[in-house]
Amino acid sequence: MRVGSDPASEVYVRNKAKKARELGLEGTELIHPETMSEAELLAEVERLNRDDDVDGILVQLPLPKQIDPMKVIDAIDPAKDVDGFHPINVGMLHLGRPSLAPCTPAGVIRLIESTGQPIEGKHAVVIGRSDIVGKPVAALLLQRHATVTICHSRTRDLAAIAREADVLVAAIGKARFVTADMIKPSAIVIDVGINRLIVDGAGKLAGDVDFNAASEVAGWITPVPGGVGPMTIAMLMKNTVTAAERRRA
Ligand code: NAD
Repeated sequence: MRVGSDPASEVYVRNKAKKARELGLEGTELIHPETMSEAELLAEVERLNRDDDVDGILVQLPLPKQIDPMKVIDAIDPAKDVDGFHPINVGMLHLGRPSLAPCTPAGVIRLIESTGQPIEGKHAVVIGRSDIVGKPVAALLLQRHATVTICHSRTRDLAAIAREADVLVAAIGKARFVTADMIKPSAIVIDVGINRLIVDGAGKLAGDVDFNAASEVAGWITPVPGGVGPMTIAMLMKNTVTAAERRRA
């Protein structure tokens, strides 16, 4: 579900619904006007909570300023919370109990696992401590027995910490923030950032990692676009199937 006309959100919601339909799930895009009130959106969430044909509900963030995103997330039935943002699912994730894990962090783990390298015992450095990416990525890495360091905007000597990382996850939101000299040779580098740049008058997407130079040093590295973004959608589909199966079990 989308409220308003944020251009990035339009693309994200369209791609998610399209992928769902391609896979044979019934993905419906519900689009509401920018002027929708908080009460109206909460009523819509409640309607979907009660609709037995609906297995997953996703409210695309950000929301217009008159709507408190926390109230909306709290209103979603945790069993249908395929984004994994409801406090119950966040708590379950941090306790290491089966839950609907947030899609981007789950995708980051899948990408690391796809290298075939064990996560156990590795030093993982996560740059960024947001509730939707940095913190849950760190929790999932810890569950897999990595030694985890979380860096953020007030971290001192971030470059030196990053250089210690066997696994480096960048979730900052600053184009090409991570340069080649911040990467340990042969490290696994996962770039979560999606930054919109204007290059020669045309819009271009860039990650948080300086990909070309970094790929000379890293053992494995994900591109932007094409890395974490598609994995996020894949994990959303997985969560939707999990939610559907659990509700019918
Ligand atoms: P956010 O703004 O909520 O958090 C950014 C984090 O980066 C903060 O914790 C902050 O402390 C840290 N940070 C900012 N400046 C820093 C600095 N100079 N040094 C060290 N740390 C710094 O962002 P978010 O929602 O976590 O998203 C991060 C990036 O990931 C964005 O580019 C976003 O678009 C992207 N994203 C991608 C996907 C996907 O599907 N690929 C999903 C979610 C977010």
